[in-house]
Amino acid sequence: MDAESDQKNAIFINNVFPLNFFEKHSRFMRQALMEAEKALLHDDVPVGAVIVHNNQIIGRGHNQVEQLKDPTAHAEVIAVTAACETINDKFLTDCTLYVTLEPCPMCAGALVWSRVSKMVIGSLDAKAGACGSVFNIASNDKLNHKIEILHSVLEDECSELLRRFFRARR
Ligand SMILES: [Zn+2]
Repeated sequence: MDAESDQKNAIFINNVFPLNFFEKHSRFMRQALMEAEKALLHDDVPVGAVIVHNNQIIGRGHNQVEQLKDPTAHAEVIAVTAACETINDKFLTDCTLYVTLEPCPMCAGALVWSRVSKMVIGSLDAKAGACGSVFNIASNDKLNHKIEILHSVLEDECSELLRRFFRARR
């Protein structure tokens, strides 16, 4: 791997993650990808998320906007609700969210309010991403909680799933 593509695959918004982070975190990103594939069953944009606490998945979600006819039914919001139910707490302190696509402003807001500690993102969303791409809600000095962010974990798999979905619809 040359220096440039190495850099492309390992861009850190916050400088808090050691490089070996990727190996551990690709395992949970694969779980988020499995969630994303469930969205295909009801023709929803394939985005998936899992929330991990102490190396255990405590919440899962996939995009269900079309299925539920609910514009707020994004994978991350569903995963947050599920995780809070699992631990019976309104805060997800010491939890890590894995999501296949960079969260939108609504989800980034929900994640800040949930106080999730870390976020691992598959592919970035240049059109609506609110974790550094278009906006930075998730790790913003003006808010009272900042999420540590790592992105581009299994980026190729995550973006290819979306590309396949949109290609098939054209
Ligand atoms: Zn969202």
